[in-house]
Amino acid sequence: PGAWFGADRVPPRAAAGPYAGIVVNRPIDQVLTYRCGPRVAAAIRPGQRVRVPLGKGNRLAVGYCVGVEDAPPEGLDPGRLKEVAEVLDPAPLIDSRMLELTRWMAEYYVCSWGQALDSAVPAGVRNQAGTRVGTFLLVPEETRQALKDQTLKPRLSPKQAAAMETLCRATGPLTISDVCRRAKCTAAPILALRRQGLIHSVKRRVGLGEAFGADEGDGESDLPDLARPPGPPGGVGPAKARLTLTPEQDAVMAALRPALAGDGFAPFLIHGVTGSGKTEVYLSAIEQVVARGREAIVLVPEISLTPQTIRRFRRRFDRVAVLHSHLSDVERHRHWQSIAEGEVQVVVGARSAIFAPARRLGLIVIDEEHESTFKQETVPRYHARDVAVKRAQLERVPVLLGSATPALETWRNADRGRYVKLAMASRVEGRPMPAVDVIDLRREKKFTGGLSESLREAVHRAVDDGGQVILLLNRRGYHTFVICPHCGDVVKCHACDVAMTHHKGRRLLLCHTCDAERPCPPACPSCGKPGLHYGGIGTERLEKEVIGAFPDRVVRRMDSDTMRRPGSHEEVLAAFKAGDVQILLGTQMIAKGLDFPNVTLVGVVNADTALHLPDFRAAERTFQLVAQVAGRTGRGDKPGRVLVQTYCPDAPAIVHAVRHDYEGFVAVELPEREGHGTPPFHRIVRVIARGPEESVVAKYMERLGVELRGAAEPSVRILGPAPAPILKIRNLYRFHLQARCPTARPLQVLLRDVPGRVPAPGGVELAIDVDPTSM
Ligand code: ADP
Ligand code: ZN
Repeated sequence: PGAWFGADRVPPRAAAGPYAGIVVNRPIDQVLTYRCGPRVAAAIRPGQRVRVPLGKGNRLAVGYCVGVEDAPPEGLDPGRLKEVAEVLDPAPLIDSRMLELTRWMAEYYVCSWGQALDSAVPAGVRNQAGTRVGTFLLVPEETRQALKDQTLKPRLSPKQAAAMETLCRATGPLTISDVCRRAKCTAAPILALRRQGLIHSVKRRVGLGEAFGADEGDGESDLPDLARPPGPPGGVGPAKARLTLTPEQDAVMAALRPALAGDGFAPFLIHGVTGSGKTEVYLSAIEQVVARGREAIVLVPEISLTPQTIRRFRRRFDRVAVLHSHLSDVERHRHWQSIAEGEVQVVVGARSAIFAPARRLGLIVIDEEHESTFKQETVPRYHARDVAVKRAQLERVPVLLGSATPALETWRNADRGRYVKLAMASRVEGRPMPAVDVIDLRREKKFTGGLSESLREAVHRAVDDGGQVILLLNRRGYHTFVICPHCGDVVKCHACDVAMTHHKGRRLLLCHTCDAERPCPPACPSCGKPGLHYGGIGTERLEKEVIGAFPDRVVRRMDSDTMRRPGSHEEVLAAFKAGDVQILLGTQMIAKGLDFPNVTLVGVVNADTALHLPDFRAAERTFQLVAQVAGRTGRGDKPGRVLVQTYCPDAPAIVHAVRHDYEGFVAVELPEREGHGTPPFHRIVRVIARGPEESVVAKYMERLGVELRGAAEPSVRILGPAPAPILKIRNLYRFHLQARCPTARPLQVLLRDVPGRVPAPGGVELAIDVDPTSM
């Protein structure tokens, strides 16, 4: 596809051309070449969308123009090329650097360029949400002049004069009905003005920034974060929010400063323990680039997009755009436009904010870079951290990856000198790391409902002393399984190969994979005998237990069952912050990013939930979760304490998390990874096929496996195929195989080439996942 790239120039008016390179959002590998007629040639630019005839039927499809050239690529007969039917966007949606970034994504993640582009440009931008095409009235200059000269006024009826005045005063385009409403007249005087040629009407698309006449009540809130007028160019918000940096923060800033002031790619890993003040470092770094008139993009996990984080950014900068997944299309479009027009200093957002159209990018920050939510699980299956590093490289700006528990891939990149490692080993203001103790569940006698005797006592002590408590249990529901004591079968989802979870409050069994529900069966669905046994502990059961044990304390549960309503998240956190809630329990939702100084105890109810998953990252995930949740305590003046309940106190992930010893964990884990040939030593591409017939999927994968083995370079190892860890989801059977290699390139080449030669049978879908984060 390279031939097309980077053609930013205006196409000349050649008789036979020009020729446009077009990509579409289909799994089509190539850039398609189309001829441009004169009308299209005058309008088309790379980065615009077009409509083109596609395939034998010549059905019109929407595509992106990725280049315009005077001559067609070599070997193509210009006479046989189809023509671009229509240019859709008045101006390019993305610039040449974003074209290059998405092209890299397509190559790296083995998808089509069109698919990568569609993920980079939000739907709200593509469908121009919030804008409308209407017939608008314009007052030509002659009319305005005549009004000034007082030659026109006497000739107008009072109604016409009122309509004219409304039109002349309006700050944006008005429709006939807008004028009727404002001037309190009917359409007749307006039409009369038009007949006399005193006003014109034009068809235009308007919206977003443009004043919308009297068109009130479209239901869209004004975005509060952009409501303030833009400050002076490059202006930085009030300095009052700035803290005096600690010596460690100072040292990190000193290391960053040359890069922030420079014009080159510079990747950094900031390895700072929880509470070491990483966010303060990000803010200072952003200040430096904003002061140069540049923009910053800050990626945070969706879960951290709390009012607390947002407030911290808003206090420091005047113009902050926040992109989270709950934005409407209109809001997203509006943000996109403001960012593209340079009205925003800082973009804070989840994964897809990495595509924010900042034109004078100066810095990218990825907070909690180890988080798996940065990985997109649909095509293109990109990892926002890795796309961020690539974007920083293309735009020649610094990129900061921050974490207390860096992904091992990142750690190794730093070890190999690809990233500069900067450490922050202690908490601000000399606060100690919390003391962590393990509760060995194998030795606990009175262990019911999730709370061991020791944990129960510790909670008592903490709340009696006026502290607050966080209890983490990474499983929702009441009972986590239902089993038949006679035949031993576990009650599974009808559509998935997954045990159902008992949600007692709703009196049903729920599949956490496909959300299917069924009533609690009176007898075993397999053998028909009554007396099913309900077991396992989820957050709903833990909540009941805790309320029972602490009847005069306020307990709140935070998981995706209780947090369905928009805003409920904020509400609970605000109540917790205000001290109205003493015990907050929940899933990983409460493990991350929260900064509440009065939390003196964190209890990890079951540290083993992730430890036994069939995933080579199981230990890493367990370490991260325990270390992160431990980081929620001891953030104020009172010291914090952490209790970790586990059946595996000797697992290295738990041993090292307890000691806050990331490097110790890495020293054990890395050799394991190397021995198993998994990342960060080997790259993995996972290939998953799914379809309604188990044997068809299995057979297809066998064939694909043979073909891949035949075509693979010697450095590539193919594992499988095998049934996926969850064989059936939503009635589709899944088989997978892995290709591994010390470098990614041979894998990407192999997987771009081979599957096309082994077309999947009807009903079978193939997915290619480069650098998978879940197995
Ligand atoms: P991290 O992101 O590393 O977990 P934060 O940036 O959230 O750490 O800082 C932890 C706490 O310490 C916050 O309450 C923050 O306001 C405070 N803090 C950070 N830097 C300083 C500083 N230089 N002086 C005083 N307090 C600080
Ligand atoms: Zn299911």
